[in-house]
Amino acid sequence: MNKELYSPLIFELSQSGRTGCRLPDYKYSSGAVSLPAELLRGEAPTLPEVSEPSLVRHYTNSSTNNFGVDTGFYPLGSCTMKYNPKVNEAMVGRSGISDLHPAQSADSVQGALRIYRTLELYLAEIGGMAEFTLNPFAGAHGEYTGLMIIRQYHLSRGDEARRKVLVPDSAHGTNPASAAMAGFDIVEVKSLPDGTVDLDDLRSKLDCSVAALMMTNPNTTGMFEHSIPEIAEAVHAAGALLYYDGANLNPILGVARPGDMGFDVMHINLHKTFSTPHGGGGPGAGPVGVRAGLEAFLPAPHVTCLPDGSFAVDEPADSFGRVSAWLGNFAVYVKALAYILTMGADGLAAAGRMATLNANYIMHSLKDLYLLPIAGPCKHEFVFDGLRDKSTGVTTLNIAKALLDRGFHAPTIYFPLLFHEALMIEPTETETKETLDSFIKAMREIAETSLSDPEAIKSAPHHTPVTHPDEDGAALDPVLTYRMLCNSTTL
Ligand SMILES: *Cc1c(COP(=O)(O)O)cnc(C)c1O
Repeated sequence: MNKELYSPLIFELSQSGRTGCRLPDYKYSSGAVSLPAELLRGEAPTLPEVSEPSLVRHYTNSSTNNFGVDTGFYPLGSCTMKYNPKVNEAMVGRSGISDLHPAQSADSVQGALRIYRTLELYLAEIGGMAEFTLNPFAGAHGEYTGLMIIRQYHLSRGDEARRKVLVPDSAHGTNPASAAMAGFDIVEVKSLPDGTVDLDDLRSKLDCSVAALMMTNPNTTGMFEHSIPEIAEAVHAAGALLYYDGANLNPILGVARPGDMGFDVMHINLHKTFSTPHGGGGPGAGPVGVRAGLEAFLPAPHVTCLPDGSFAVDEPADSFGRVSAWLGNFAVYVKALAYILTMGADGLAAAGRMATLNANYIMHSLKDLYLLPIAGPCKHEFVFDGLRDKSTGVTTLNIAKALLDRGFHAPTIYFPLLFHEALMIEPTETETKETLDSFIKAMREIAETSLSDPEAIKSAPHHTPVTHPDEDGAALDPVLTYRMLCNSTTL
């Protein structure tokens, strides 16, 4: 650990008796309320005791040891880490929204339900779907919800033999995981050398035991599946449904719609395409859309608009049940709707095109030094297979760490699993040409240094707060709690 940059924990700064504020007398402290003895703690909690300036400096300095899209470029492939406009936060902070309680009656939250329903209708229009639910909390949760809808659809037709879900080998790991959670057996579909689905392999696996094919389009190598009409036809001819993993919707936003490509069920990651931040595992949302004919299978509860223009909360007729408490992550919906309204239809289409242009610009500017296994043009992201010159032994992990020293977040590495040294870059539409150029310059410099002085790259990072953590130990024997010993503390 780099001691100079390492900031102590707030508990390590603590000095007994030091205080940063004075609290009013607690009105229940003198026994005004009697709690059962077994609920009372034996001794006071160990809380840090620090002065106000120490507290402010501690958190301000800690915040600058972190990296986020607000501090720098974050080219994380398959995750669409775009900048989140601050106006979205301002909208959620308004008391009419932030003071709501989920248990309020529908007639007391008509405005909130209007926001909810309006977002569902916009997403249906954007995705080319008949109906949407906002309930799921994340992309993976959306996948699970979508697959439960598909399961319910087949069961409602008495078709109980459809136990398999087909997943391309380039898919995000959540796809097979969600299918397993929904009770399906997973069958992998092969990719062609250009990263798209192998139609012959797909056809050979389609039969009356298949419930659905899950697809990401453009896929995780950034390639658009040109044979999507043939794929949709083959899947439907076998009586199965086509599921769209919408985490990669950003590049086709306002340009193409999954519903028009033949998809039956889809999810959207609001925390990716619709700029609602989810850093650090914070609240997300994975709304799910369905084509006409599948509306009745959506999860409960569902918001509907009554003939008199008011909004009600009810349950779809053949719903498979609930996936969330209440109606989901409401604050996330407000941000997504604010984003859609400030962008407008033209703005959303421009975002998709710009994301694609930016990715192609970086790809072309680096492919003489980095190995490009799938020649473009790409959509929002692309994958390098490490450096072209493999003689120095510099790996993708080394490159990622060298980028941290140069002020950039690392791209996604070692995913997808199609290549040994995968380095997956997604710049998004929100970066300026100057930012892209400075990233390209850093990547070129790393590639050149890896030839002239490979050790300098292999030993990176040199300037981050934490330099060389024990990666195997962190995975095999993680220490997830902080141990406090009375007033003295240990790590
Ligand atoms: C991010 C992502 C997911 C999962 O979304 P979460 O919200 O992280 O659960 C699924 N598929 C793809 C292609 C993704 O990029």
